[in-house]
Amino acid sequence: MLLTYCVRCMLPDSKPDLHFDTEGVCAACRAYENRKTVDWAARRDEFMDIVENYRDRSDQKWDCIVPVSGGKDSTFQVITMLELGVRPLCVTATTCDLTDVGLANIENIRNLGVDHMTFSPNPVVRRKLNRIGLEEVGDISWPEHVGIFTIPVRAAVQFDVPLIIWGENSQNEYGGPDAATTSRTLDRRWLEEFGGLLGMRVSDLAETQGIPVGDLAPYTYPDGADLERVGVTGLFLGQFFPWDGMTNALIAQASGFRTTGAVVEGSMVDYENIDNYQVGIHDYFKFLKFGFGRATDIASLHVRRGRLTRDQALSIIRARDGKFPWTYLGKPLAEILRPIGLGVDEFIEICDRFTNTSLFETKRDGSLVRDRDGNLTKLSYDNPR
Ligand SMILES: [Zn+2]
Repeated sequence: MLLTYCVRCMLPDSKPDLHFDTEGVCAACRAYENRKTVDWAARRDEFMDIVENYRDRSDQKWDCIVPVSGGKDSTFQVITMLELGVRPLCVTATTCDLTDVGLANIENIRNLGVDHMTFSPNPVVRRKLNRIGLEEVGDISWPEHVGIFTIPVRAAVQFDVPLIIWGENSQNEYGGPDAATTSRTLDRRWLEEFGGLLGMRVSDLAETQGIPVGDLAPYTYPDGADLERVGVTGLFLGQFFPWDGMTNALIAQASGFRTTGAVVEGSMVDYENIDNYQVGIHDYFKFLKFGFGRATDIASLHVRRGRLTRDQALSIIRARDGKFPWTYLGKPLAEILRPIGLGVDEFIEICDRFTNTSLFETKRDGSLVRDRDGNLTKLSYDNPR
Protein backbone atom coordinates (compact mmCIF):
# COMPACT_ATOMS: atom_id res chain seq x y z
CA MET A 1 0.00 0.00 0.00
CA LEU A 2 1.38 3.38 -0.95
CA LEU A 3 0.65 6.27 1.32
CA THR A 4 -0.42 9.54 -0.18
CA TYR A 5 0.95 12.75 1.20
CA CYS A 6 -0.17 16.32 1.63
CA VAL A 7 0.88 18.40 -1.39
CA ARG A 8 2.41 21.02 0.91
CA CYS A 9 3.93 19.17 3.86
CA MET A 10 4.97 15.56 4.43
CA LEU A 11 2.04 14.27 6.48
CA PRO A 12 0.54 11.06 5.07
CA ASP A 13 -3.13 10.11 4.81
CA SER A 14 -2.49 7.26 7.25
CA LYS A 15 -2.31 9.76 10.12
CA PRO A 16 -5.36 9.16 12.29
CA ASP A 17 -8.04 11.87 12.02
CA LEU A 18 -6.07 13.86 9.42
CA HIS A 19 -8.40 15.29 6.83
CA PHE A 20 -7.31 16.28 3.30
CA ASP A 21 -9.29 18.76 1.18
CA THR A 22 -10.00 18.51 -2.54
CA GLU A 23 -6.73 20.29 -3.36
CA GLY A 24 -4.78 17.65 -1.45
CA VAL A 25 -3.87 19.98 1.41
CA CYS A 26 -3.95 18.54 4.92
CA ALA A 27 -5.86 20.00 7.86
CA ALA A 28 -2.64 20.93 9.69
CA CYS A 29 -1.50 23.06 6.72
CA ARG A 30 -4.95 24.66 6.43
CA ALA A 31 -5.10 25.36 10.17
CA TYR A 32 -1.68 27.03 9.93
CA GLU A 33 -2.76 29.04 6.91
CA ASN A 34 -5.86 30.21 8.80
CA ARG A 35 -3.66 31.62 11.55
CA LYS A 36 -2.62 34.41 9.17
CA THR A 37 -6.14 35.79 9.26
CA VAL A 38 -6.25 35.83 13.06
CA ASP A 39 -6.14 39.19 14.80
CA TRP A 40 -3.58 38.18 17.43
CA ALA A 41 -3.76 41.47 19.29
CA ALA A 42 -7.49 40.93 19.75
CA ARG A 43 -6.86 37.34 20.84
CA ARG A 44 -4.35 38.51 23.41
CA ASP A 45 -6.91 41.00 24.80
CA GLU A 46 -9.48 38.25 24.90
CA PHE A 47 -7.06 36.02 26.77
CA MET A 48 -6.35 38.73 29.32
CA ASP A 49 -10.08 39.32 29.82
CA ILE A 50 -10.57 35.65 30.61
CA VAL A 51 -7.59 35.61 32.95
CA GLU A 52 -8.89 38.72 34.75
CA ASN A 53 -12.16 36.90 35.37
CA TYR A 54 -10.32 34.06 37.04
CA ARG A 55 -7.64 36.06 38.84
CA ASP A 56 -7.40 35.25 42.52
CA ARG A 57 -7.99 38.45 44.46
CA SER A 58 -7.88 36.81 47.86
CA ASP A 59 -4.10 36.34 47.71
CA GLN A 60 -4.77 32.86 49.07
CA LYS A 61 -4.41 30.92 45.86
CA TRP A 62 -3.01 31.02 42.35
CA ASP A 63 -4.48 32.62 39.24
CA CYS A 64 -4.14 29.48 37.18
CA ILE A 65 -2.60 26.05 36.86
CA VAL A 66 0.09 25.58 34.22
CA PRO A 67 0.82 21.93 33.44
CA VAL A 68 4.58 21.72 32.88
CA SER A 69 6.46 18.75 31.52
CA GLY A 70 9.70 20.70 31.69
CA GLY A 71 9.89 20.91 27.91
CA LYS A 72 10.47 23.96 25.74
CA ASP A 73 6.74 24.62 25.38
CA SER A 74 5.95 24.53 29.08
CA THR A 75 8.97 26.72 29.81
CA PHE A 76 7.58 29.20 27.27
CA GLN A 77 4.10 28.97 28.86
CA VAL A 78 5.51 29.85 32.28
CA ILE A 79 7.61 32.72 30.90
CA THR A 80 4.52 34.08 29.14
CA MET A 81 2.35 33.87 32.27
CA LEU A 82 4.99 35.68 34.32
CA GLU A 83 5.33 38.38 31.66
CA LEU A 84 1.57 38.87 31.73
CA GLY A 85 1.63 39.23 35.51
CA VAL A 86 -0.32 36.03 36.09
CA ARG A 87 0.59 33.89 39.12
CA PRO A 88 0.66 30.20 38.15
CA LEU A 89 0.81 27.03 40.16
CA CYS A 90 2.93 24.82 37.95
CA VAL A 91 2.10 21.12 38.02
CA THR A 92 4.32 18.39 36.65
CA ALA A 93 3.01 14.91 36.02
CA THR A 94 6.39 13.22 35.78
CA THR A 95 7.25 11.32 32.62
CA CYS A 96 7.49 7.54 32.80
CA ASP A 97 11.29 7.44 32.54
CA LEU A 98 12.55 10.91 33.35
CA THR A 99 15.90 11.89 31.85
CA ASP A 100 18.59 13.95 33.54
CA VAL A 101 18.10 16.83 31.13
CA GLY A 102 14.34 16.61 31.73
CA LEU A 103 14.90 16.88 35.48
CA ALA A 104 17.24 19.85 35.02
CA ASN A 105 14.62 21.60 32.91
CA ILE A 106 11.93 21.13 35.57
CA GLU A 107 14.35 22.61 38.10
CA ASN A 108 14.90 25.48 35.67
CA ILE A 109 11.16 26.19 35.50
CA ARG A 110 10.97 26.46 39.30
CA ASN A 111 13.82 28.92 39.22
CA LEU A 112 11.94 31.17 36.84
CA GLY A 113 10.19 32.10 40.08
CA VAL A 114 7.05 29.99 40.46
CA ASP A 115 5.39 27.62 42.89
CA HIS A 116 5.65 24.13 41.55
CA MET A 117 4.49 20.67 42.45
CA THR A 118 5.49 17.32 41.06
CA PHE A 119 3.08 14.43 41.00
CA SER A 120 4.63 11.00 40.49
CA PRO A 121 2.09 8.23 40.07
CA ASN A 122 2.88 4.90 41.74
CA PRO A 123 5.81 3.58 39.65
CA VAL A 124 4.90 -0.07 40.16
CA VAL A 125 1.42 0.48 38.72
CA ARG A 126 2.80 2.72 36.01
CA ARG A 127 5.29 0.12 34.81
CA LYS A 128 2.42 -2.37 34.56
CA LEU A 129 0.49 0.18 32.51
CA ASN A 130 3.50 0.81 30.24
CA ARG A 131 3.63 -2.86 29.46
CA ILE A 132 -0.13 -3.25 29.04
CA GLY A 133 -0.19 -0.17 26.80
CA LEU A 134 2.61 -1.56 24.65
CA GLU A 135 1.13 -5.05 24.37
CA GLU A 136 -2.54 -4.14 24.03
CA VAL A 137 -2.55 -0.96 21.93
CA GLY A 138 1.08 -0.61 20.83
CA ASP A 139 1.73 2.45 22.95
CA ILE A 140 4.21 2.30 25.82
CA SER A 141 3.37 5.91 26.68
CA TRP A 142 -0.32 5.26 27.28
CA PRO A 143 -0.21 6.03 31.04
CA GLU A 144 1.88 9.15 30.48
CA HIS A 145 -0.37 10.52 27.78
CA VAL A 146 -3.41 10.01 29.95
CA GLY A 147 -1.76 11.32 33.13
CA ILE A 148 -0.50 14.57 31.60
CA PHE A 149 -4.15 15.49 31.01
CA THR A 150 -5.80 14.08 34.13
CA ILE A 151 -3.27 15.04 36.82
CA PRO A 152 -3.32 18.85 36.26
CA VAL A 153 -7.14 18.74 36.20
CA ARG A 154 -7.09 16.85 39.49
CA ALA A 155 -4.78 19.54 40.89
CA ALA A 156 -7.23 22.23 39.71
CA VAL A 157 -10.02 20.54 41.67
CA GLN A 158 -7.83 19.78 44.70
CA PHE A 159 -6.48 23.33 45.03
CA ASP A 160 -9.65 25.02 43.85
CA VAL A 161 -7.89 26.84 41.00
CA PRO A 162 -10.30 26.70 38.06
CA LEU A 163 -8.23 28.04 35.16
CA ILE A 164 -5.78 25.66 33.45
CA ILE A 165 -3.47 27.04 30.76
CA TRP A 166 -2.48 24.26 28.37
CA GLY A 167 0.04 24.77 25.57
CA GLU A 168 -0.66 23.92 21.96
CA ASN A 169 -3.84 22.43 20.65
CA SER A 170 -2.20 19.35 19.13
CA GLN A 171 -5.16 19.01 16.76
CA ASN A 172 -4.44 22.47 15.34
CA GLU A 173 -0.66 22.03 15.30
CA TYR A 174 -0.50 18.51 13.86
CA GLY A 175 -3.88 18.22 12.13
CA GLY A 176 -7.25 16.95 13.29
CA PRO A 177 -10.96 17.24 12.60
CA ASP A 178 -12.16 20.77 11.79
CA ALA A 179 -14.02 21.41 15.03
CA ALA A 180 -11.06 20.17 17.06
CA THR A 181 -8.49 22.37 15.31
CA THR A 182 -10.32 25.55 16.29
CA SER A 183 -11.19 24.40 19.80
CA ARG A 184 -9.84 26.73 22.44
CA THR A 185 -10.80 24.67 25.42
CA LEU A 186 -9.77 21.28 26.66
CA ASP A 187 -12.53 19.33 28.36
CA ARG A 188 -13.40 15.73 29.02
CA ARG A 189 -14.73 15.27 25.49
CA TRP A 190 -11.50 16.55 23.92
CA LEU A 191 -9.53 14.27 26.21
CA GLU A 192 -11.59 11.22 25.37
CA GLU A 193 -11.26 11.87 21.66
CA PHE A 194 -7.70 13.09 21.36
CA GLY A 195 -6.02 12.50 24.71
CA GLY A 196 -4.26 9.38 23.54
CA LEU A 197 -6.58 6.74 24.98
CA LEU A 198 -6.46 4.72 21.71
CA GLY A 199 -9.65 2.93 22.55
CA MET A 200 -8.30 1.57 25.84
CA ARG A 201 -10.29 3.19 28.60
CA VAL A 202 -9.12 3.44 32.14
CA SER A 203 -12.28 1.78 33.42
CA ASP A 204 -11.59 -1.27 31.21
CA LEU A 205 -8.20 -1.79 32.84
CA ALA A 206 -9.64 -2.47 36.23
CA GLU A 207 -11.83 -5.19 34.77
CA THR A 208 -9.59 -6.82 32.18
CA GLN A 209 -6.19 -6.40 33.84
CA GLY A 210 -7.20 -6.77 37.45
CA ILE A 211 -5.68 -3.47 38.54
CA PRO A 212 -7.51 -2.09 41.60
CA VAL A 213 -9.65 0.93 40.66
CA GLY A 214 -7.99 3.01 43.40
CA ASP A 215 -4.57 2.49 41.80
CA LEU A 216 -5.92 4.09 38.64
CA ALA A 217 -7.07 7.32 40.30
CA PRO A 218 -4.25 9.44 38.80
CA TYR A 219 -5.40 8.38 35.34
CA THR A 220 -9.04 9.23 35.80
CA TYR A 221 -10.62 12.58 35.12
CA PRO A 222 -12.24 14.13 38.20
CA ASP A 223 -15.92 13.65 38.67
CA GLY A 224 -18.29 15.95 36.75
CA ALA A 225 -19.80 17.41 39.92
CA ASP A 226 -16.33 18.40 41.23
CA LEU A 227 -15.39 19.99 37.92
CA GLU A 228 -18.56 22.00 37.99
CA ARG A 229 -18.20 23.05 41.63
CA VAL A 230 -14.69 24.44 40.96
CA GLY A 231 -15.65 25.64 37.46
CA VAL A 232 -12.61 24.07 35.81
CA THR A 233 -11.83 25.66 32.44
CA GLY A 234 -8.90 24.69 30.28
CA LEU A 235 -7.53 27.01 27.59
CA PHE A 236 -4.97 26.35 24.89
CA LEU A 237 -2.40 29.16 24.95
CA GLY A 238 -1.64 28.39 21.30
CA GLN A 239 -5.11 29.62 20.33
CA PHE A 240 -4.39 33.08 21.78
CA PHE A 241 -0.69 33.55 20.96
CA PRO A 242 0.96 32.50 17.68
CA TRP A 243 2.56 29.16 18.46
CA ASP A 244 5.88 27.93 17.11
CA GLY A 245 7.89 25.17 18.74
CA MET A 246 11.25 26.46 17.53
CA THR A 247 10.55 29.99 18.70
CA ASN A 248 9.47 28.58 22.05
CA ALA A 249 12.74 26.66 22.22
CA LEU A 250 14.78 29.81 21.55
CA ILE A 251 12.89 31.77 24.20
CA ALA A 252 13.14 28.88 26.67
CA GLN A 253 16.87 28.47 26.04
CA ALA A 254 17.46 32.14 26.76
CA SER A 255 15.90 31.43 30.17
CA GLY A 256 18.04 28.42 31.03
CA PHE A 257 16.27 25.57 29.21
CA ARG A 258 18.77 22.92 28.15
CA THR A 259 18.72 20.85 24.98
CA THR A 260 20.59 17.59 24.52
CA GLY A 261 23.07 19.23 22.16
CA ALA A 262 22.66 16.37 19.66
CA VAL A 263 19.78 15.60 17.35
CA VAL A 264 17.48 13.08 19.03
CA GLU A 265 17.23 9.57 17.55
CA GLY A 266 14.29 9.33 15.12
CA SER A 267 13.74 13.09 15.27
CA MET A 268 15.51 15.96 13.52
CA VAL A 269 16.03 18.48 16.34
CA ASP A 270 17.63 18.50 19.79
CA TYR A 271 15.05 20.56 21.65
CA GLU A 272 11.99 18.40 22.08
CA ASN A 273 10.97 15.01 23.46
CA ILE A 274 14.06 14.94 25.63
CA ASP A 275 12.43 14.25 29.00
CA ASN A 276 11.53 10.55 28.72
CA TYR A 277 13.66 7.62 27.54
CA GLN A 278 10.55 5.73 26.38
CA VAL A 279 9.67 8.27 23.67
CA GLY A 280 11.80 6.49 21.04
CA ILE A 281 9.65 3.37 21.47
CA HIS A 282 6.45 5.42 21.32
CA ASP A 283 7.50 7.10 18.08
CA TYR A 284 8.74 3.86 16.52
CA PHE A 285 5.33 2.27 16.99
CA LYS A 286 3.72 5.20 15.24
CA PHE A 287 6.03 4.47 12.31
CA LEU A 288 5.15 0.76 12.34
CA LYS A 289 1.40 1.42 12.45
CA PHE A 290 1.10 4.45 10.18
CA GLY A 291 4.37 4.72 8.25
CA PHE A 292 5.59 8.01 9.64
CA GLY A 293 7.57 9.06 12.68
CA ARG A 294 8.63 12.11 14.65
CA ALA A 295 10.93 13.49 11.94
CA THR A 296 7.89 13.72 9.64
CA ASP A 297 5.92 15.74 12.19
CA ILE A 298 8.76 18.13 12.90
CA ALA A 299 9.88 18.52 9.29
CA SER A 300 6.27 19.27 8.32
CA LEU A 301 6.03 22.00 10.97
CA HIS A 302 9.14 23.60 9.46
CA VAL A 303 7.81 23.30 5.90
CA ARG A 304 4.58 25.05 6.91
CA ARG A 305 6.62 27.90 8.36
CA GLY A 306 8.78 28.19 5.24
CA ARG A 307 11.98 27.08 6.99
CA LEU A 308 12.41 23.94 4.86
CA THR A 309 11.27 23.14 1.36
CA ARG A 310 9.16 20.03 0.93
CA ASP A 311 12.12 18.35 -0.85
CA GLN A 312 14.50 19.16 1.98
CA ALA A 313 11.99 17.77 4.45
CA LEU A 314 11.73 14.59 2.37
CA SER A 315 15.51 14.03 2.47
CA ILE A 316 15.61 14.54 6.22
CA ILE A 317 12.69 12.17 6.75
CA ARG A 318 14.29 9.48 4.59
CA ALA A 319 17.48 9.74 6.61
CA ARG A 320 15.98 9.88 10.09
CA ASP A 321 12.40 8.63 10.37
CA GLY A 322 11.48 5.25 11.75
CA LYS A 323 14.88 3.84 12.63
CA PHE A 324 14.78 0.88 15.00
CA PRO A 325 15.08 2.41 18.48
CA TRP A 326 18.31 0.72 19.62
CA THR A 327 19.00 3.77 21.78
CA TYR A 328 17.12 6.86 22.87
CA LEU A 329 19.07 9.87 24.11
CA GLY A 330 21.98 7.47 24.24
CA LYS A 331 20.31 4.94 26.56
CA PRO A 332 20.29 1.37 25.18
CA LEU A 333 16.93 -0.23 24.37
CA ALA A 334 17.57 -3.20 26.69
CA GLU A 335 17.97 -0.80 29.63
CA ILE A 336 14.86 1.14 28.69
CA LEU A 337 12.85 -2.10 28.55
CA ARG A 338 14.23 -3.70 31.73
CA PRO A 339 11.99 -1.85 34.22
CA ILE A 340 8.87 -3.04 32.43
CA GLY A 341 10.12 -6.62 32.36
CA LEU A 342 10.66 -7.01 28.63
CA GLY A 343 13.66 -8.28 26.69
CA VAL A 344 14.64 -7.02 23.24
CA ASP A 345 13.46 -10.22 21.51
CA GLU A 346 10.02 -10.01 23.11
CA PHE A 347 9.94 -6.35 22.18
CA ILE A 348 10.61 -7.16 18.52
CA GLU A 349 7.76 -9.69 18.57
CA ILE A 350 5.42 -6.98 19.85
CA CYS A 351 6.72 -4.63 17.14
CA ASP A 352 5.89 -7.19 14.47
CA ARG A 353 2.40 -7.64 15.84
CA PHE A 354 1.67 -3.93 15.39
CA THR A 355 3.43 -3.45 12.06
CA ASN A 356 1.23 -2.62 9.11
CA THR A 357 3.13 -4.94 6.78
CA SER A 358 1.47 -3.44 3.70
CA LEU A 359 3.56 -0.28 4.23
CA PHE A 360 6.93 -2.04 4.20
CA GLU A 361 8.99 -4.28 1.95
CA THR A 362 8.39 -7.96 2.60
CA LYS A 363 9.97 -11.18 1.37
CA ARG A 364 8.06 -13.73 -0.68
CA ASP A 365 6.98 -15.54 2.47
CA GLY A 366 5.45 -12.30 3.77
CA SER A 367 8.10 -11.66 6.44
CA LEU A 368 9.50 -8.16 6.79
CA VAL A 369 12.75 -7.16 5.09
CA ARG A 370 15.22 -5.78 7.62
CA ASP A 371 18.62 -4.22 7.03
CA ARG A 372 21.59 -5.17 9.19
CA ASP A 373 20.53 -2.61 11.79
CA GLY A 374 17.03 -4.07 12.01
CA ASN A 375 15.40 -1.22 10.11
CA LEU A 376 12.39 -1.80 7.88
CA THR A 377 12.15 -0.33 4.39
CA LYS A 378 9.13 1.76 3.68
CA LEU A 379 7.59 1.17 0.29
CA SER A 380 7.39 4.78 -0.79
CA TYR A 381 7.86 8.21 0.59
CA ASP A 382 6.38 10.60 -1.86
CA ASN A 383 3.06 10.36 -3.59
CA PRO A 384 1.49 13.80 -3.33
CA ARG A 385 -2.27 13.73 -3.75
ZN1 LIG B 1 0.10 19.45 5.05
